[in-house]
Amino acid sequence: MKRVVLLGSTGSIGTSTLKVAEDLPDQIQLIGLAAGGNAELLIQQALKHKPAAVCIHDPAKVAAVRAALPSSIRVLQGPEGLMELAQLADADIVLVAIVGTGGLKPALAAIQAGKDIAVASKEILVMAGEMVMGQAARQGVRVLAVDSEHSAIFQCLDGKSPQSVRNLWLTASGGPFRKTPKSEFAGITVERALKHPSWVMGRKITIDSATLFNKGLEMIEARWLFGIEMSRVQVVVHPQSVVHSMVEFVDGSILAQLSTPDMCLPIQYALTYPERTSSQRVQTNFAAIGSLTFEEPDLDRFPALNLAREAGDRGGTLPAVLNAANEVAVDAFCERRLTFTGITEIVAEVLQRHPHQPHPSFEEILAADDWARAAARDVISRRS
Ligand code: NDP
Repeated sequence: MKRVVLLGSTGSIGTSTLKVAEDLPDQIQLIGLAAGGNAELLIQQALKHKPAAVCIHDPAKVAAVRAALPSSIRVLQGPEGLMELAQLADADIVLVAIVGTGGLKPALAAIQAGKDIAVASKEILVMAGEMVMGQAARQGVRVLAVDSEHSAIFQCLDGKSPQSVRNLWLTASGGPFRKTPKSEFAGITVERALKHPSWVMGRKITIDSATLFNKGLEMIEARWLFGIEMSRVQVVVHPQSVVHSMVEFVDGSILAQLSTPDMCLPIQYALTYPERTSSQRVQTNFAAIGSLTFEEPDLDRFPALNLAREAGDRGGTLPAVLNAANEVAVDAFCERRLTFTGITEIVAEVLQRHPHQPHPSFEEILAADDWARAAARDVISRRS
């Protein structure tokens, strides 16, 4: 039985994690749940799974959550509550699925408390990958991937060292604009960008999948998770999203992990690792799929990939700056204050302005994140 704390239980990854826990009641016990503002769903989840504690970020919702739950479930609040939940004494593993950067401190706290972590929130490894992996190694805890691409690579590597790898191949669906001509990019609306061809996900990651920033963030995530420099992290467009990613070994052999797309599979693998547990949820019918195709990503229409490669390559504070500027730009796009192409332009400009620090402390990473948000807001407001 794995005792799991789930941060971000009301989101897309969070609700899939609850399905996995319901599929495997003898293997997975949810002992802590945290949400941002969706008190109604958090209450429903807590009444069903009876965790030891829950946490709600929105202070206005705390009283309602307390009133709805039995006194046997502790109700925590805000960032402090999240830190307490991340270090819950009985937890074996903490799954971090909070959108944005709010998961970084709880993830580090969980590592310090000797817990394995399962990482969905890619921002954690993008911002502070070196630090997170270093602390996990010192504490002797695992950092398990929930992202389907990184789970695939982890499964293919199966413990092989970075020396045995020629390239890691991240597959990208190509997003909704894979075939859209560049001349139409500036006019892309929020509604069109939110229609992802293969996955149903939260709003931020769906927009990131349309700009390919998501793949850029994943390149940096892979670099830290697997201890491999950026020049050996490659991207190939694979519109069917059946090959979740691949490892090309030094002898030329390539291993891939395949299935119909369903986030429950990598979530289950992370929570039951190192075992493989029987589940009927994911079924793959190759004859029905018919063909698997691969294309070069178009770096001209999707400059986010090159921005991420450069930020990941130079490291230091640049990945945190890339991530924070992108978050601000995506919000501005969703609020119709910025065009679709403006997202990448803002990030490029903020990266260019940033006084790079090659070996930042934790505080310097957080300061770079703050600086990038302010810089992005400034560039956006001057544009409009
Ligand atoms: P969603 O927007 O669907 O969910 C975000 C979750 O975070 C919600 O539960 C939200 O709570 C919670 N949350 C936000 N702020 C706080 C806070 N301060 N304290 C506690 N909880 C908070 O996002 P996704 O599930 O799509 O994505 C989550 C992370 O996983 C992202 O980093 C994303 O990049 C990554 N990821 C997602 C994939 C997917 O398929 N969706 C695939 C791979 C990675 P509430 O709703 O109650 O406000």
